[in-house]
Amino acid sequence: MASSSGVQIPGRLPLLLTHDGVLLPGSTVRVSVDTGRNMQLVKSRLLKGTSLKSTIIGVIPNTRDPEQEADELPTLHRWVWQRSSHNQGELGELSQRFYQAAVQLVGMLDMSVPVVAKLRKLLDSLPRDTLPDILASMIRTTNKEKLQVLDAVDLEERFKKTLPLITRQIEGLKLLQNTRKLRPDDNKKVGTPFKTHFSLEEEGDEEDVDDTSLLERKVKGANMPEPALRVCLKELKRLKKMPQSMPEYALTRNYLELMAELPWSKSTSDCLDIRAARVLLDNDHYAMEKLKRRVLEYLAVRQLKSTLKGPILCFVGPPGVGKTSVGRSIARTLGREFHRIALGGVCDQSDIRGHRRTYVGSMPGRIINGLKTVGVNNPVFLLDEVDKLGKSLQGDPAAALLEVLDPEQNHSFTDHYLNVSFDLSQVLFIATANTTATIPPALLDRMEVLQVPGYTQEEKVEIAHRHLIPHQLEQHGLTPQQLQIPQHTTQEIISRYTREAGVRSLERKIGAVCRAVAVKVAEGHKISKPDPSGPQHGPEEAGDRERTGEEAYRDTDMTAPPEMPIVIDSVALKDILGPPVFEMEVSERLTLPGVAIGLAWTPLGGEIMFVEASRMEGEGQLTLTGQLGDVMKESAHLAISWLRSNAKLYQLTNIAGSQDPLEGTDVHLHFPAGAVTKDGPSAGVTIVTCLASLFSGRLVRSDVAMTGEITLRGLVLPVGGIKDKVLAAHRAGLKRIIIPKRNEKDLEEIPIHVRADLDFVAASSLDEVLNAAFDGGFAATTAPVTHPQVSSKL
Ligand code: ADP
Repeated sequence: MASSSGVQIPGRLPLLLTHDGVLLPGSTVRVSVDTGRNMQLVKSRLLKGTSLKSTIIGVIPNTRDPEQEADELPTLHRWVWQRSSHNQGELGELSQRFYQAAVQLVGMLDMSVPVVAKLRKLLDSLPRDTLPDILASMIRTTNKEKLQVLDAVDLEERFKKTLPLITRQIEGLKLLQNTRKLRPDDNKKVGTPFKTHFSLEEEGDEEDVDDTSLLERKVKGANMPEPALRVCLKELKRLKKMPQSMPEYALTRNYLELMAELPWSKSTSDCLDIRAARVLLDNDHYAMEKLKRRVLEYLAVRQLKSTLKGPILCFVGPPGVGKTSVGRSIARTLGREFHRIALGGVCDQSDIRGHRRTYVGSMPGRIINGLKTVGVNNPVFLLDEVDKLGKSLQGDPAAALLEVLDPEQNHSFTDHYLNVSFDLSQVLFIATANTTATIPPALLDRMEVLQVPGYTQEEKVEIAHRHLIPHQLEQHGLTPQQLQIPQHTTQEIISRYTREAGVRSLERKIGAVCRAVAVKVAEGHKISKPDPSGPQHGPEEAGDRERTGEEAYRDTDMTAPPEMPIVIDSVALKDILGPPVFEMEVSERLTLPGVAIGLAWTPLGGEIMFVEASRMEGEGQLTLTGQLGDVMKESAHLAISWLRSNAKLYQLTNIAGSQDPLEGTDVHLHFPAGAVTKDGPSAGVTIVTCLASLFSGRLVRSDVAMTGEITLRGLVLPVGGIKDKVLAAHRAGLKRIIIPKRNEKDLEEIPIHVRADLDFVAASSLDEVLNAAFDGGFAATTAPVTHPQVSSKL
C-alpha cells in the first residue's frame, strides 16, 4: 500500500488486486484492470468520485493464478503502517554504501537521457530512507523480491534487502556492456519497470514492459497446444531481452500477437437439424435438386458421425449458378462461421502456406489468416475458383492445398510463418470451380465433384421472382407496391439482355431497373401534388429511343409523380436497359449454304456456335480461322477427308461440278467469335454438316444444332457437357438437337419441360447426322461402297 504520511486511511478500504507488480511506497504503477471485481471497484470508486486524489484505495499484489478470479483474497502482508526510519547515525555506513551503489547504477545509464539526469539529481536531494523503495521499484526484480522489500518494515532490513538487488543489476549491466557495445537506446531498457513519482517522462519503456506482460498473458490464455506454447514462451523471452528499436522486435511481437489470437481451441458447436437444413436450402435456392440432395446426404452423415473425415465437396459449374451461395447456406445450417478464400490467380505457394519469418514483410498464408478472421477453428472455408490456381517460380500452390485438404494430413498443417502445426481437421472445406479440366489431378482426386449446370429459361424466371427481385427491391429501398416486374418482362430480360448460364447478369439488370425506378419514386416523393393522369410510360416517352439507357429514362417525365406500382413493360425496359443486346439471329444466318450451328461447352456454360465455310478456286487448300486448338483443326481435316471419300455417295462436288470437292478449290472454314480460343473434338459433326452443305449447295435446317466427335469411318462418338449445350440451344430457340447416340443417357438430367420443347436425334453415324440436319434428309444415292483411300492434299 502506498501512502504518504498525513493521509487518513479509512477503516474500510476498497482493494484493487493486481497481477502486474508490486506498488512500493513512493512509486506509481500502471495496473491493467481486467477482472470483473477490479472493474467494479474502478467504476464504483474511482470513476464516480469527484476527484481522484480524494479517493483512497488499497492495492494488493495478487500472487495467485491470474486466470482465476478467486473469491477469497490472497494472504495479506501485514506491517506497521509507519515504517520505521532509524536515525541516520546508526545506519550511516549502510546508507552510505547504498547511496554509492545507487549512484554507480545511475552512472552506468545514459546521462543524455533527461529522465536519467533527473534521477541522478534526485539521488542527492531525496531522504536516504526512501531510496530502497524507489530503487527497488526501478530495477529489474521479481515480484517476490519486491514483496520482500515491501515487507521489510525495518529500514536497516530494507537497505539490506535492496542492496544485493542493486549490485546484481550493476553486474548485469557490466556484463551487457562487455558483451556488446551498448547503444543509447539499450540503456533505456535497463530502466524502470514502474514509474516513480519522481520521473515524469519516458512512458515508452514502461508501456512496453506492460505490453509484454499483457502479451505474455494473452499467449498463456490462448490455450494453445504444448509445442506452440513452448515456441511462444521462447519468443517471449527473446522479446523481453530485445531493444525495441531492433527491427526484429516488431516481427516477434506481430508473431506472438498472431499466435495469441489464433483460435487454437475455440470452436462453435454445430446445431444441425436435417429437416431445418432442407427447408433452409430450399428457401435459399430454387432448383438445383441434385446438388441439394447431395449436400443434405453429406450433412446427414456428419450428423450421425461428427468425426467424418472428407470428402471435400467441389461444386463445378458456370459463374452465377449459386455455388458460393450454397456454401454459405451450408455454413448457416451448421451454425458455423463462413469464410471465402479466393484462389483465382494465386500462383505462389506462400499464399497458402505463408512466408518464412526470415523474409521481410513475411506473413501467414490465407488459411491461417482466415482462421484469425473467423476466430474459431471449425469454420466453413469456401475455396473459391480452385481451377484458376496458377503455377510460378514461387512454387505450386495446388501442392500446398493438397496438405490443407487431405484429411490424413491436415490435422498438422504447418504454415511457414507460424512454424508450428495447426489442426485443420475441424474445418469444413468446400471448393468451387468453373471446370475440372484445369484442376490439378492430385487435387481433384481429393474432392468429390458435384456438377452445378446452368439454369433453363423457366428456372431463371422462377429464381428471379422468388429471390433476385425481392432481394434487389430490398437493396434499393423499394417495395412490391412501388415496383412490379411481370413474368414476361423477366423473360425478355433473360432472353434479350443476358446470355449466361447463371443468373448474375440477370440480377444486375434487375438492379438497373430498380435504380431507375428508385429515381422515379424519389422524385415522386418530392413533388407533393399527386397527378393521377396516366402511367409514366406515355407514347412520347416511348418515342425517346435514341437516348438509351438509364439517362433517357430518368430525364423523361420527371415532373409527374408516377402511379404506384410502377409496372415495367417492354417499352419501359427498353428505356431503362437500352436496345436489346442479343437478338434471335439464328434463322437469319442460315440463309446460305455452308453454315451450320454447333454446340460448344465453355467454363461459362453452353453456347451455340456458328460454323461457316466458303470455297473459291484454288489448289485444294484448307484454311482455318477463329483461334482453333490442335484438336479442332484435326476435326476439320477429318471432316474434309470423310466428305471427300464419300463425295460420290452424297453427290458432293467442287465448284466446277467435279466429284472431288477439293479439286481446283480452296476451302475456308471460320468459327466465330474470332477472338475466343476454341478447342475440343465435339465440333466434328458440325464441320461435316457445314461442309456437306457447302459442297451440295443445300441449306442446313435453321432450327438444328448439333454436337459430336467424328471418326474417319464416319462414326459419331460421345462428348461431354450435354446438359449445358442443350440448355444453350434451348435458350437460342432451336428446336432439333443432334447428339451422339451414346450421350442419350445424359438427357435424363435435362428438365422435362425443356425436353418437351426439343426434338432430339441420337446419331451413331454421320449419315444419320446429315439426314437429320437437312430438310428432307441427305439421302445417299446408292448403298455405301468401299472407297479406295483418298490421299489428302492438305
Ligand atoms: P457462383 O458462386 O456460382 O458464381 P453465386 O453463388 O455468387 O454464384 O450466385 C450469384 C447470385 O445468384 C447470388 O445472389 C445467388 O443468391 C443467386 N442465385 C444463384 N442460384 C440461385 C438459386 N438457385 N436460387 C436462388 N438464388 C440463386
